[in-house]
Amino acid sequence: MQTLDTTLLIIGGGPGGYIAAIRAGQLGIPTILVEGQALGGTCLNVGCIPSKALIHVAEQFHQTEQHSRKSSLGIKVVAPSLDIGQSVAWKDGIVDRLTTGVAALLKKNDVKVIHGWARVIDGKLVEIDGQDLRIRCEHLLLATGSSSVELPMLPLGGAVVSSTEALSPKALPKRLTVVGGGYIGLELGIVYRKLGVEVSVVEARDRILPTYDAELTQPVAESLKKLGVQLYLGHSVEGFDATEKRLKVRKPDGEELALETDQVLVAVGRRPRTKGFNLEALELKMNGAAIAIDERCQTSMRNVWAIGDVAGEPMLAHRAMAQGEMVAELIAGKQRAFTPAAIAAVCFTDPEVVVAGKTSETAKEEGLDCLVAQFPFAANGRAMTLESKSGFVRVVARRDNHLIVGWQAVGVGVSELSTAFAQSLEMGARLEDVAGTIHAHPTLGEAVQEAALRALGHALHI
Ligand SMILES: Cc1cc2nc3c(=O)[nH]c(=O)nc-3n(C[C@H](O)[C@H](O)[C@H](O)COP(=O)(O)OP(=O)(O)OC[C@H]3O[C@@H](n4cnc5c(N)ncnc54)[C@H](O)[C@@H]3O)c2cc1C
Repeated sequence: MQTLDTTLLIIGGGPGGYIAAIRAGQLGIPTILVEGQALGGTCLNVGCIPSKALIHVAEQFHQTEQHSRKSSLGIKVVAPSLDIGQSVAWKDGIVDRLTTGVAALLKKNDVKVIHGWARVIDGKLVEIDGQDLRIRCEHLLLATGSSSVELPMLPLGGAVVSSTEALSPKALPKRLTVVGGGYIGLELGIVYRKLGVEVSVVEARDRILPTYDAELTQPVAESLKKLGVQLYLGHSVEGFDATEKRLKVRKPDGEELALETDQVLVAVGRRPRTKGFNLEALELKMNGAAIAIDERCQTSMRNVWAIGDVAGEPMLAHRAMAQGEMVAELIAGKQRAFTPAAIAAVCFTDPEVVVAGKTSETAKEEGLDCLVAQFPFAANGRAMTLESKSGFVRVVARRDNHLIVGWQAVGVGVSELSTAFAQSLEMGARLEDVAGTIHAHPTLGEAVQEAALRALGHALHI
């Protein structure tokens, strides 16, 4: 058996692992990255990028269809038709370009990539399944990501699919029922609805996007209604009869209901990927289902590190990347700690939702006395030119010194405001800083400035 020696061995080539590898390469650390499936991980192959590509397809199709019916903009088109094979091929082209780019960056930075499944032997030794190959390392970085949570009464297969299959449809079903009203289920549910599928969403809790506050998610609920998505809130799933094409659900009053559907998308969350590669051998301290880490992403074993989804919430690509970059720098001897002021989270629903930092509720729970102000897009000129008046920007700032501790927004295109939100929180901006910054006109960003002005008691456009 061949044994390779390296300083850093990374298991997993998702955004956490490949960024750690690139940065380590830049810093001159001998690095090997092992990936069992495809470089880019969940994010580039079956997550962030493909979902946003299909959201774009669906939006273009939906807009064209709207114009073909009645267009107040004066656009006249005939009703569109869809070649879903071509749409998926376009999406796959983007994925290919990005994953090829990652491979090129790894090569450029002298990272050795091994395609295969890693199996842990101990904290310094890993073998590659079926390749007669062992790798010995000084530092082991676990970046194995996460996988979709499966429901025992809804095993995947046939008409019951996960987000991975839903992102590459060969044909569209007539009816789709999404189980789970979180961001992944809603993003995909909206895609399918805009492409003409009859969509229902079953959610066990009493509202969609239950981890966000109700006021913030209200415009999304209204939009789902307008799009004709059926919501079954407070309903729990009991099982699927594939022959009858019926999804059995339990209503809040305990009665059973059968929903007729051709396909069921299970989107009830993701679980850290800690099984199947002998991780147990390390007896690492766990934090629930995730690997426990400290603020340097160190696990309970010296020189064994964990980043990204395998280290638990928030399971977001940009958090995995930031941790990966940090771990490479720590191994190179730099002083670093992972203590971000905020990690913005975005739902690419219609309209989009962004949260960064504290909400008024979490600030209150922490004993902070805060000013909370919001500015509606109904009073923003740019939003009107985008035919989108629903939603708002909300700021949360300490009453005593006006330090901004959180931002939330809902509206068309607000994902792009997440940068301004994260920057203001990271730089310790006060309300006066944002209110005193000249924001270009006409932009949605003006609502950010106006929210800060409103918190100070003198908004100008409301
Ligand atoms: C449909 C969907 C949409 C999403 N949208 C967004 C979004 O808009 N924004 C956002 O921030 N996040 C989004 N996410 C979440 C995001 O994809 C993850 O947070 C991110 O990919 C985590 O990165 P990671 O590097 O920790 O793990 P992953 O990307 O999961 O990568 C882990 C890699 O490790 C490999 N691996 C695992 N075990 C082994 C082993 N034993 N040997 C070799 N290789 C192994 C896997 O094959 C995989 O490639 C989405 C997820 C899904 C499913």
